[in-house]
Amino acid sequence: MSDWIRTSGFEAAQKEYDRQEPPEGRPLAECWECGAGIFEDDTYYWVGCRRYCEDCIQSARRIMEAPL
Ligand SMILES: [Zn+2]
Repeated sequence: MSDWIRTSGFEAAQKEYDRQEPPEGRPLAECWECGAGIFEDDTYYWVGCRRYCEDCIQSARRIMEAPL
């Protein structure tokens, strides 16, 4: 029973993920801040255990005026 629930949940999540997949490829991750897909060729940043896209890092740097 628990196996069935786990499998069913996985398939539902996978279907949702595929539906949002842009045509150019599958994102490695999503930006913690804005939710933008982070792709293999993109520059992205780890801050703690969170990933941020370059746009969010740039705007954060502008606000704080300090290196992360
Ligand atoms: Zn972002």
